[in-house]
Amino acid sequence: MANTLFWFTDDLRVHDNPALLKAAQTSKTLTCVFCVEPRWDKANAFGTTAMSKKRHEFMLATLHRLSQQLRGFGQRLQLITGPASQAITTLLLNNEFDRVVRSRQSGHYEQQAWQKIQQAVEPHRPNLSFEEEDSHTLFNLAQLPDFSPFPQSFSKFRKQVSHLLPVAPEQKPLYLPAPTEIEIGALANTLLQEYTPATHTQGQIEGGEAAGLAHLADYFASDAPSSYKQTRNALQGWSQSTKLSIWLANGSLSVRKTYDALKHYEQLHGANDSTEWIYFELLWREYFFWLARHQQASLFLFGGQQNKKLLTSFYPQRFKQWCAGETPWPLVNACMKELNATGFMSNRGRQIVASCLINELQLDWRCGAAYFEQQLLDYEVGSNWGNWQYIAGVGADPRGGRHFNIEKQTKEHDPEGEFQRRWLGPSYQQAAQGRASIDTVDAADWPI
Ligand code: FAD
Repeated sequence: MANTLFWFTDDLRVHDNPALLKAAQTSKTLTCVFCVEPRWDKANAFGTTAMSKKRHEFMLATLHRLSQQLRGFGQRLQLITGPASQAITTLLLNNEFDRVVRSRQSGHYEQQAWQKIQQAVEPHRPNLSFEEEDSHTLFNLAQLPDFSPFPQSFSKFRKQVSHLLPVAPEQKPLYLPAPTEIEIGALANTLLQEYTPATHTQGQIEGGEAAGLAHLADYFASDAPSSYKQTRNALQGWSQSTKLSIWLANGSLSVRKTYDALKHYEQLHGANDSTEWIYFELLWREYFFWLARHQQASLFLFGGQQNKKLLTSFYPQRFKQWCAGETPWPLVNACMKELNATGFMSNRGRQIVASCLINELQLDWRCGAAYFEQQLLDYEVGSNWGNWQYIAGVGADPRGGRHFNIEKQTKEHDPEGEFQRRWLGPSYQQAAQGRASIDTVDAADWPI
């Protein structure tokens, strides 16, 4: 029986958590930690941070709920201060663990941290075992075909996995082994002790496993899934798309549980092209997860996986105005104001504002991706940077990038201006005309 360290990452739940279940099995003691990265609040090369105040608050709410859940099992969640590669190494060297378990990660830096820890620890603890389980994806790594080369488009990926069935969700554990006292020292992080949960008000997005499961149940108890394909492109409306990404991203909701709920809905109400399209979108998420693992650091490179040469410059003022929702395009501004106020934006909105940053403003797509990382409650490394690469034409798009015509998009998706009025106020068109005319502006000549 082992003394096990369980490292929570983007699997912040107890239900259907194969990594946690594995850690609990054959363990004498189980110590649960989560690493708070100092880079969360530090400015990066793009002048943004990894987490806005809103995203930070959402993460703390999620961790708080997880900690309460674990307490019900006689367990506790200990927060430690990162960088993870150093903090986990220190924990493993200063304590008598036999194994460390976590969920498989797709991000390059997260994979690198795992390797660094192994390299630092192995000479001192040769018998300590490092184990990863698939908790964030529909499929297990071992199920996937031997991709060589890795499919360079989503349709190729979809074809190659079409015969696979997603893994069935695990039962919630009945029991978790008790934790042991460990030497944490200066790594101790008091964020959770200092955290006071905000009172939840109607219309606010609530973090944590219970909220994610409740939303899943509500969505599939409604008839929205049967018309998803017709409504999914809307710019606003809570049930126009599933909104599941909000809880899937940090793992407070399991994607396998989501697939199970979808299948159950189809059994009750019948499958149609809308329910099938929900699965199709979950496969996009799956693709970006495995693609990010494959791409490694090139996910963050300007030329992307194709190492393409792009013509852009850095116009700090343009970037600032795009972030604040103060461009000449009211639709773009409305989407950005929504993002800044709520931490969410529809898929259509994301495509339009990304295309605007890349094509109209001619900025480096990575500035936009970094800003999304900071703001989005549903930020996922593969889905975010992969979608940005796709629109910039340096990623998994055989058509070589997407340029959305903002005027046409406005006519199609907000013909009455309802969405723009909501976020910009009644005089939204005048406000934008004060900056430049939509018809005449040419981003290259935009006088900023
Ligand atoms: P639904 O339309 O209901 O889709 C169901 C689920 O399928 C989503 O919850 C999500 O898990 C998945 N999904 C749908 N579309 C995509 C897609 N294009 N790529 C990957 N997964 C998808 N999604 C994220 O989860 N995190 C991100 O950081 C993120 N960044 C994005 C950046 C850009 C520039 C763009 C264009 C898209 C991005 N997306 C991202 C994808 C997509 O916009 C969101 O998943 C979707 O809007 C979330 O809302 P929903 O849950 O209602 O989606």
